[in-house]
Amino acid sequence: MKSVIVVGAGIWGSSLALRLAETGWQVTLVEQHRPGHVRQASAGETRLMRCSHGGEEWYARMAWRARDGWRRLSERVGEELYLEAGMMWFAGTPDGWESASARVLKNLDIPCEVLDPEDGARFFPEFRGDDLSFLLWEPKAGVIRARRATQVTAGLAEAAGVRLVRGRAVPMAGDGTPYLSGVQVGGEVLTADRVVWACGAWLPELFDAPLTVTKQDTLHFAVPAEWTTPGTPAWVDHAAAAYGHGDVDGVGMKATSDVEGAPYEPEHGERTVDEAGVASARAYLARRFPSLVSAPVLFSQVCQYALTPDAEWIIAEVSPGVWLLGGDSGHGFKHAPALAEYVVDVLDGVQEPHARFGLHERKLSRGLRTSGEAG
Ligand SMILES: Cc1cc2nc3c(=O)[nH]c(=O)nc-3n(C[C@H](O)[C@H](O)[C@H](O)COP(=O)(O)OP(=O)(O)OC[C@H]3O[C@@H](n4cnc5c(N)ncnc54)[C@H](O)[C@@H]3O)c2cc1C
Repeated sequence: MKSVIVVGAGIWGSSLALRLAETGWQVTLVEQHRPGHVRQASAGETRLMRCSHGGEEWYARMAWRARDGWRRLSERVGEELYLEAGMMWFAGTPDGWESASARVLKNLDIPCEVLDPEDGARFFPEFRGDDLSFLLWEPKAGVIRARRATQVTAGLAEAAGVRLVRGRAVPMAGDGTPYLSGVQVGGEVLTADRVVWACGAWLPELFDAPLTVTKQDTLHFAVPAEWTTPGTPAWVDHAAAAYGHGDVDGVGMKATSDVEGAPYEPEHGERTVDEAGVASARAYLARRFPSLVSAPVLFSQVCQYALTPDAEWIIAEVSPGVWLLGGDSGHGFKHAPALAEYVVDVLDGVQEPHARFGLHERKLSRGLRTSGEAG
């Protein structure tokens, strides 16, 4: 039986472990804390699911496949892990990122509709869109209950036979060779045919990977009942680097920024939000949803991005059989079920990973993120 060690039980590692176990691999999943622990990026209360990726077809296809994965996972566990509330894109210019997205979605037969800014009032109470060129409506997008989905996925992996080992893993050099041969966890040495390091923001501590880790504050505001998701869709203002969704599970309406924060250390960093972030979220609410300008912050979380320069992920073999899986760049959660299938094919040797995921020098670009340059 083929064996594999996956290090990191965030949504990427857990989804991969589950998929590997279900396709006949003997899997060990190593996690230094618990699946769904608050430091991991996957433990955000919610994450957006969208197919729009500007002109990028590859990611649009993968997100569309992943949507199926989330629906199947929800059905399988009898829990609504994915709320298909739809997503509204607020387009500031007629021919920018959103129109490129619309072209790709239409080419791929992924449902979308171009709407007039005035139509926004049908979706959001007291919507102000007089500065916008158009709206792009993605009805099959939505919101994932992220932390819960991560815990559920890790639980399913264990139920499928994955051995979960609790501890901090360290790469081990082989006997007298420059190759990495295994994983050390406390006093235990683990070896397998393949090792996948899916360590999120911890990856640069272990390997020389082109990653910047930044502090990201997430804010949820107390809102009246009419702002509840799925009635209220998710929304993204790409040019303003602002995004959010209605109230899910009583934690308030999410309204937050995609602008990268200060460099951050995920294990020991203080997890308190910055006042400046609250002020800028409130300024955005005042502009777009004026009735919410005085809404108090109800709930906040500090998380971290693991950013590559071009927001493309890392799927790279660093030594025979040893793979890095990371650099999610703040847009990886939604893809997890489909990405797991893709990586299993890579580990099985069925396909080579796309060259875009390599450890080559990368050019600065944020085209795949939910925000443009403006910040
Ligand atoms: C504020 C914010 C908003 C986001 N919004 C979205 C969104 O709307 N849509 C979307 O698709 N994505 C979004 N993302 C990105 C998404 O959250 C990430 O892509 C995803 O969670 C990455 O999962 P991961 O498994 O790679 O990393 P993580 O969830 O961070 O998991 C890594 C795990 O590895 C473990 N680990 C690390 N090192 C070791 C070691 N040496 N030994 C053992 N265990 C180890 C850690 O403890 C951790 O549990 C957002 C991210 C942030 C921060």
